[in-house]
Amino acid sequence: MNLHEYQGKEILSSFGVRIQRGIVAHNAKEAVDAAKQLTSETGTEWHVIKAQVHAGGRGKGGGVKLAKNIQEVEDIAGQIIGMDLVTPQTSAEGKRVHQVLVAEDVYYPGESEPDEYYMSVLLNRATGRNMIMYSTEGGMDIETVAEETPHLIYTEEVDPSTGLLPFQARRIAFNLGLSGTAFKEMTKFVNALYTAYVKSDSSLFEINPVLKTSDSKIMAVDAKVTLDENALYRHKDYVEMRDIREENPVEVEAKAVGLNYVDLDGNVGCMVNGAGLAMATMDLIKQAGGEPANFLDVGGTADAKRVEEAFRLILKDDNVKAILINIFGGIVRCDRVAQGVVDAYKNMGDAIKVPIIVRLQGTNADIAKELIDNSGLDVQSAVLFQEAADKVQAVLA
Ligand code: GDP
Ligand code: MN
Repeated sequence: MNLHEYQGKEILSSFGVRIQRGIVAHNAKEAVDAAKQLTSETGTEWHVIKAQVHAGGRGKGGGVKLAKNIQEVEDIAGQIIGMDLVTPQTSAEGKRVHQVLVAEDVYYPGESEPDEYYMSVLLNRATGRNMIMYSTEGGMDIETVAEETPHLIYTEEVDPSTGLLPFQARRIAFNLGLSGTAFKEMTKFVNALYTAYVKSDSSLFEINPVLKTSDSKIMAVDAKVTLDENALYRHKDYVEMRDIREENPVEVEAKAVGLNYVDLDGNVGCMVNGAGLAMATMDLIKQAGGEPANFLDVGGTADAKRVEEAFRLILKDDNVKAILINIFGGIVRCDRVAQGVVDAYKNMGDAIKVPIIVRLQGTNADIAKELIDNSGLDVQSAVLFQEAADKVQAVLA
């Protein structure tokens, strides 16, 4: 589950990670109040107004702006809230901004230049260990850094039995070229960040930039936090951080009825049981010259009700030109599924306007095929994987 920057920062702060302070605002007036409140706490008159959407690259898209007085706070907040923010990470239509974070300016001038670093905490799936990835090249696209100057990206792997050790935090501060107060601040920052990552059951922290202020404080200026949904039951207070406005509406609907659905760009709808078979089916569709329109795992029970729900979800996508149902009857019997498909089809009246290819394999596959073939509906049966692929190709041609 992805969070907004302000929510991510709340979590970081609750574990003692120093953050650029801010208050969320839903309109220009709230932004003005927020700025006044921050000024009374921090003393600074300057604020950054930051669009809160689930996408990075907001700065480049005009979603992060510096306001040097209250009038500018009001104007900039008014302009950003309600806009469709287009960034390198959004679609061409952009994302509607419902709220901004009014944050204290932390790039204030001082005895030295502020410095930006990159830092993330994530799971290295190859070693099964958490790692801290960091770089002196903060504030810019880490993908670009990886491409052009990969030697400037460092990693520090953490042994789960010891946790992050003091020498590792020191090595990070050293590699970032720090000394004196900033060095000590960085080791504290890294320790708090790692603790926060583990205790919040996150699957990704990406802090870009981590800032060294001109008076040598180390803080998180940005925060991309992804929580592990499988651990949400342990964090009741995080559950309400979900902002479904930021999520794909069909995926939200699917989740509500317990279906595992991921929206894709292609033209062939897929209805499959089991994630592995779903992946194989998507490959099959590509080989047949189509593109999968979605990933949909109906799970263990493919009865008429569930098949109907799955049909409805798939058909919300206008690009769908054919539907491939590929189900393995292991625990669930194929004839049951076939009956489910036929019943769902009939229940839906004339809602289904695209050809359907059904491949049922496993227990009672032959009875299932007969059921489909005798249904009188625009449903074609297939027994072999390749046969199903050929039939998809034929209806797309
Ligand atoms: P992103 O573009 O979505 O990654 O959003 P960020 O939160 O990283 O902000 C983008 C950029 O805004 C940062 O890289 C900074 O250069 C700049 N920025 C953020 N906070 C401040 C601030 O307090 N003062 C100034 N002057 N610039 C800031
Ligand atoms: Mn950033």
